Amino acid sequence: MSLRRSIYKNPAQLRLMVAPGLATAASLKAARVAMVIGATTLDLDAAAEAAIVALGGKPNFKLEDGYHHTVCASVNDDVVHGIPSGRRLGAGDIVSIDSGAIIEGWNGDAAFSFVLPDASRPEVVAERQKLSDVTEQSLWHGIARLNTARHLNEVGEAIEDYVESQGTYGILTDYVGHGIGRSMHEAPPVFNYRVRQKGPDVKPGLVVAIEPMVVLGSIDTYTRDDDWTVATSDGKAAAHWEHSIAVHKDGIWVLTAEDGGAAGLAQFGIVPVPIP
Ligand code: MG
Repeated sequence: MSLRRSIYKNPAQLRLMVAPGLATAASLKAARVAMVIGATTLDLDAAAEAAIVALGGKPNFKLEDGYHHTVCASVNDDVVHGIPSGRRLGAGDIVSIDSGAIIEGWNGDAAFSFVLPDASRPEVVAERQKLSDVTEQSLWHGIARLNTARHLNEVGEAIEDYVESQGTYGILTDYVGHGIGRSMHEAPPVFNYRVRQKGPDVKPGLVVAIEPMVVLGSIDTYTRDDDWTVATSDGKAAAHWEHSIAVHKDGIWVLTAEDGGAAGLAQFGIVPVPIP
């Protein structure tokens, strides 16, 4: 018998992932509400933490070795893993917030990007808003594909096809999505682009965090001197959207969306089904 944990959860385990998913969603909503010009990224972090604690959870990012915050806050050319600080958000900033909650040993993980208004630079705001919209929609295309996919690599195909149809954007290849369960990051990897290997079967019990990271310029990145923050090498803006999604016997359910993904999946004619 293999001691390796199966990547497929049983129905009882899937049900335990509902609460941390909703706490994660609440934390992102709280960060979004706190996201105003002049707020610091530490303000967003505090708002997100309070939302998770209020729902009986703990911020799971704090359980990562050496990380002491609830969210990652990545501004402009920072792609992911930005550390909350006293940095004040400015007009026109594109801000990506990644957050996660753990409840009774099970995890949620999700992210969104938001562009702050800037009346003096409408073309910059429009370009960044489109970047965020393309990234968000690429995520929904990936989630929609999960509903019918036989193998997990089809998710990456759907994301890449959509992003390519929208213009000259780059999909980061240095970082990918992942399975999620008792650990925030577990097998299998979830690629946001075409890969040769088919990946595991998409079947009941699979729970994945899909998280496309899309950039306006080159996909080359580097890690800043803080040893965490990942930034684009050319200094151009990045966006990051993520959801944790469960596949079960009756359909799919977006664990980190309050509506299970109904609004995002409606355009595909897909109705998410609550975990039985
Ligand atoms: Mg993730």
